[in-house]
Amino acid sequence: MIPTTGGSATITRRLNVNITRNVPVATYPFLDYFKGFENVDAVKQIFDKDTKKVLSNLRVEFVGRRGYMGVSEIDGHMIISADYLKTGKRVDIYLDFVHELVHVKQFMEGKELFDHNYSYVERPTEVEAYRFAVEEARRLGLSDRRICHYLKTEWMTDDEFKRLARAVDVCCGKMPKKSRRQLS
Ligand SMILES: [Zn+2]
Repeated sequence: MIPTTGGSATITRRLNVNITRNVPVATYPFLDYFKGFENVDAVKQIFDKDTKKVLSNLRVEFVGRRGYMGVSEIDGHMIISADYLKTGKRVDIYLDFVHELVHVKQFMEGKELFDHNYSYVERPTEVEAYRFAVEEARRLGLSDRRICHYLKTEWMTDDEFKRLARAVDVCCGKMPKKSRRQLS
């Protein structure tokens, strides 16, 4: 019978498996998959004269799970759901790239991307990235209604959504019933 107590070293010794701890994370050059972003004014506004250099060095990791996009807090590479790339709306994906590139810049500036002293919708790094994406959405001619759908993701509560819309000055009036994934 295994005794129920023991130090952590004792317990570790009982784990009779071999776990490789240093595994490679497969990443690819951003520009091999996403072309033309280096010429987008909004992107040039983020990185200024370093735009080409930053995008040339940027790596992306494709993940085989649902979700959208993010930026690694470890080394600043972009993480993208392959499913979202395949099934998401083109304009949502474009705006997400704009949003995530703001995070890439924030990471380069040494900002804390996931500051848990704030909730997601109030985190300064998120508000900045959302504001920038909303500005680009307006420039493209998206209506506030469509922008509201863009902002609405299934994991956000109605209250969080309202606070986000307010933080980025989008008038959503009536709550969108459908998230962007459910838009047909
Ligand atoms: Zn974000």
